[in-house]
Amino acid sequence: TSFGHFNFDDRLLKAVRKAEYTQPTPIQAQAVPVALSGRDIIGIAKTGSGKTAAFIWPLLVHLMDQRELAPGDGPIGLILAPTRELSLQIYAEAKKFGKVYNINVVCCYGGGSKWEQSKALETGCEIIVATPGRMIDMVKMKATNLKRVTFLVLDEADRMFHMGFEPQVRSICNHVRPDRQTLLFSATFKKRIERLARDILTDPVRIVQ
Ligand code: AMP
Repeated sequence: TSFGHFNFDDRLLKAVRKAEYTQPTPIQAQAVPVALSGRDIIGIAKTGSGKTAAFIWPLLVHLMDQRELAPGDGPIGLILAPTRELSLQIYAEAKKFGKVYNINVVCCYGGGSKWEQSKALETGCEIIVATPGRMIDMVKMKATNLKRVTFLVLDEADRMFHMGFEPQVRSICNHVRPDRQTLLFSATFKKRIERLARDILTDPVRIVQ
């Protein structure tokens, strides 16, 4: 598979070339077309597989469609990740490819300044990358709302659960409209993740890296 098969527009293709990615990784080759078709995904993949771009690219395509269809405030894409480090990595990848569309990305993680993060949210953003606890804090503070979210990603779900974020993850999923598209990534797929997948995904495609 080459990037040409994804039918990205010229701006996104140019950004991919600029990143010097020569060909899609296996998880990208499998997950991108499925995500672009609008299906939910369970992706069993580890860090280093290229999974971040595998959900960022379809999210950007989704955003470009939804931007016009659903004007308003609040993000369209929400990505949950277990740690500050991972959320900052995802943020960097989202900025790298989102800038060709002038997409505003905000990162909210535990341990960072709530004041600064809520200020960043108030200026408006289309993608939020957040750790679960901090995302809930931001919603409670009314710094943003999740009413417009139609694309939800849970990255490293197993790690989020190990860190005790299961209630927060479930609460956030319950606050996002049920007709959203949801992508769930996890390095392992044990009972608790399986249960979560059953509860929050609709007819998912399972992709094992
Ligand atoms: P990830 O698994 O998403 O953390 O990605 C691991 C690293 O691979 C990151 O530094 C990405 O920038 C890089 N990467 C992602 N996709 C590709 C690709 N198709 N070709 C080369 N490098 C890539």
